[in-house]
Amino acid sequence: MKRVKAILFVLLTISFVSFGQFKLPPLQFKYNALEPTIDSTTMYIHYNFHHTAYATNLNKALEKYPELYKKDILELIQNINELPADIQTAVRNNGGGYYNHNFFWTILAPAGTAPMSPKLEKILVENFGSIDAFKAEFEKAAVGRFGSGWAWLIKDSTGKLRVISTPNQDNSLMQKAEVKGKPVLAIDVWEHAYYLKYQNKRVVYVKAFWNVVNWTEVERLIAM
Ligand code: MN
Repeated sequence: MKRVKAILFVLLTISFVSFGQFKLPPLQFKYNALEPTIDSTTMYIHYNFHHTAYATNLNKALEKYPELYKKDILELIQNINELPADIQTAVRNNGGGYYNHNFFWTILAPAGTAPMSPKLEKILVENFGSIDAFKAEFEKAAVGRFGSGWAWLIKDSTGKLRVISTPNQDNSLMQKAEVKGKPVLAIDVWEHAYYLKYQNKRVVYVKAFWNVVNWTEVERLIAM
């Protein structure tokens, strides 16, 4: 009986301690929903291992400062410089990775389910001259990012849409961002995002990516 009580105590403690830690939001589509552009094995590994690891390592980094579990992830990554010095790098990398992947899944959708509306097309043409010009600039940023990172479409403080890229798990919301703004579209160009299917051919992955963009969500984010 004593042993049972001890085990229960440990389980309760674990569940109490883990309460409020950062967890993965559920995926809004099945692992195979983005086939053939993004294969289900890549999707499964990306969500369950890579994304999960960022959340786990973020939670681990905050262990010494449990009051930070109560913060919104956005608040954390927008104010990295105000965090204790010993966790700033871990929050930048893992908090960034956690946030970026939460965001990435929301702007993906099965092919043909969230097409670009005439209204969004007009906004993109106003900002970039044409849809082709916008796509070319975005593809160039994604393919040209050396090593691991992301390409983004962001809305800056003046309301203008801009294409940028960031290294590692940085994004345009962080204090140290070269160009600041609110993300409205992103592509993950870490090899883990495409290597199983596309191997070294990042450019093929980047061009195929357009098939699975959730333009409805992009438009909603631009309007916010
Ligand atoms: Mn990734």
